[in-house]
Amino acid sequence: KIILASIAVAFISVKWSTPSFQSETLQGARVLVTGASTGIGEQMAYHYARFGAQLVITARREKVLQQVVEKCLSLGAQKALYIAGDMATESDPDKVVEFTLEKLGGLDYLVLNHIGPTPFSVWKGDIEHTRWLMKVNFFSYVQMAWKALPSLEQSKGSLVIVSSLLGKMAGPFTAPYTATKFALNGFFGSLQHELAMKNSNVSLSICTLGLIDTDSAMEKVRGVIDVPAAPASEAALNIIKTGATRQEELYYPWNTFAVTLTKDWIPFATNYIIRHAYNYIP
Ligand code: NDP
Repeated sequence: KIILASIAVAFISVKWSTPSFQSETLQGARVLVTGASTGIGEQMAYHYARFGAQLVITARREKVLQQVVEKCLSLGAQKALYIAGDMATESDPDKVVEFTLEKLGGLDYLVLNHIGPTPFSVWKGDIEHTRWLMKVNFFSYVQMAWKALPSLEQSKGSLVIVSSLLGKMAGPFTAPYTATKFALNGFFGSLQHELAMKNSNVSLSICTLGLIDTDSAMEKVRGVIDVPAAPASEAALNIIKTGATRQEELYYPWNTFAVTLTKDWIPFATNYIIRHAYNYIP
């Protein structure tokens, strides 16, 4: 009872202190969203478009990006452009930021969201894949953030990092992915302190998501774990609001926050639940 009451109090205090979101502030805002050809990134592009933002979106598949851009324009984006890029390469993270700065004349929101595909399975020693995934899911984030920081500093802008509950606690069958998300939380958690301590103009938001019903996620977990998935469009809107209101953290859906508390307070019970939540026969 005490644990539940503490969770409720912590949750209410987080909600209470949340500033209200004014969608007009996004009218004309210059936004770069990565991993926007599908899933949560695509949904973010549509929300920003409805709010009248100027958008650049990126991912690898040009044809799909083209279709997303067309839809963004029909939804009301002031501007919508795409640039194809592979975040596993050395040059594309910089190239994408440079393209955005040139086309939009600056940047107000950098939303780093892309992830490389990774198997949902027992780790079988694929070091090369782990190295590659680190490049896509972590190093490219660091590179893009560094490239964009001067422009965000100028515009009093926001850097938004899309992370996961698996950046706060480990789960099975996702060892390389979990490692990349822990790396993100560690790196950008540290940067968050530094920006605050030097009174930087830049706000940095780290978004902790639970299971979201994107095609790629549902394909992996179907039949393996029976956890309700939250809607991608709502997850996307919550991420956008978090960036726009310059909050340091988002937990979506709300119960991800409870899980991050119970994993430290009652680790044995949390581990027991995790290990029995999967249909797994060794
Ligand atoms: P998706 O798999 O739907 O989308 C991934 C995006 O990244 C696509 O646009 C893909 O496009 C792009 N991408 C993949 N590889 C590369 C690459 N090498 N270079 C550039 N872009 C690439 O992911 P979700 O929408 O499900 O997830 C979005 C974010 O939310 C991620 O950060 C994820 O960790 C986080 N999250 C998601 C959860 C979920 O349950 N869905 C749970 C917790 C966190 P393309 O193939 O065209 O390159």
